[in-house]
Amino acid sequence: MEKTSFSINEGKPIRCKAAVCRKAGEALVIEEIQVDPPQAYEVRIKILCTSLCHTDVTFWKIDSGPLARFPRILGHEAVGVVESIGENVEGFKQGDVVLPVFHPQCEECKDCKSSKSNWCARFADEFFSNTRRYGMASRFKDSSGEDIHHFLFVSSFTEYTVVDIAHLVKISHDIPVDKACLLSCGVSTGVGAAWKVADVEEGSTVAIFGLGAVGLAVAEGARLRGAAKIIGIDLNPDKFELGKKFGFTDFVNPTLCGEKKISEVIKEMTGGGVDYSFECVGLASLLSEAFISTRTGSGKTIMLGMGKHAAPISLASFDLLKGRSICGSMFGGLKSKLDIPILVDHYLKKELNLDSFITHELDFEEINKAFDLLEEGRSLRCILWMDKQ
Ligand code: NAD
Ligand code: ZN
Ligand code: ZN
Repeated sequence: MEKTSFSINEGKPIRCKAAVCRKAGEALVIEEIQVDPPQAYEVRIKILCTSLCHTDVTFWKIDSGPLARFPRILGHEAVGVVESIGENVEGFKQGDVVLPVFHPQCEECKDCKSSKSNWCARFADEFFSNTRRYGMASRFKDSSGEDIHHFLFVSSFTEYTVVDIAHLVKISHDIPVDKACLLSCGVSTGVGAAWKVADVEEGSTVAIFGLGAVGLAVAEGARLRGAAKIIGIDLNPDKFELGKKFGFTDFVNPTLCGEKKISEVIKEMTGGGVDYSFECVGLASLLSEAFISTRTGSGKTIMLGMGKHAAPISLASFDLLKGRSICGSMFGGLKSKLDIPILVDHYLKKELNLDSFITHELDFEEINKAFDLLEEGRSLRCILWMDKQ
């Protein structure tokens, strides 16, 4: 494709504002940074708005080991507009509205061509680098010329970022950008898990552990699939009120279960266990409970939560032998370039409820308040506007 970019900054570095994470668990610092031009297969995008997912909070807190990288620009749920493109970029041009997605889709490898999974064999196993095709090379520098690390190939807590085309999806201009932003990670992950991974069918019973945006989006996906009973489990009772907008039929507060295990309560509520359970917190102990909450013979558990230390999980082998199954999923089993436009269509047809996920909106400079809101369990998604009109 011929290049049609007319950005005055094309081919040059851009100076802009970013929220830089300098030290694990410490407030992000708004700094002026330099964003280099995109190289081959890369696109530089102007972020319109971004939001905070729990995965950002998890990585923000990691203070040792290979995953602890500072200074770093976190953020991976966002929507932007193409500012300029590098060599060999097909299908994107200046002015396109795009979603960056942390999970890659090269479109060329055996797995990208198969409908079996969304695990891009070419790229998905490697998530330590800064840039997808250039290893530790970074496109960000701070005011003293030091490299700043990328995060999950997106880094959206900045006015401009550089993203590989394997992590970029072009979307319709028709969807409001704040709603589109939700589809960049959390909501797509939850809806996709119910739709693609579990393949929830009409009349089935579902238990969802953890009612953040991911868990509530699983409920939204299960509701769209016609699930008859959707049980939400959370320690925070405020989430039950929020959950009513997403098709939950029942709630369980683990602190009120007395001597009984959550799985026992769920089995009683469903006459033997749910057809599908989803772990949306990132706790190994909760995953075991989710697993034994399912029906013997056919129950299926889907793990979506990401724990800080990738802790081993423990399942009694006989519970597995009884015909239950368990699997995990990144990005809800969705192939971003194929499936995000389908979710956008569902929203535009008023089938998919995205509006209720946005509980707060702030200016980008107030980003540290968004961390507090999510950590304190007061928000689902807080939209951070780069340039609020
Ligand atoms: P969130 O912080 O908004 O929600 C987590 C919820 O879990 C909260 O409502 C909290 O009260 C609840 N919770 C915490 N401990 C609990 C417990 N012991 N029992 C029951 N409920 C408990 O987070 P989110 O943004 O919805 O993300 C949820 C998880 O999904 C995170 O681990 C995140 O890293 C992960 N995630 C995974 C993918 C993926 O591709 N697999 C994508 C996005 C997010
Ligand atoms: Zn996320
Ligand atoms: Zn691939």
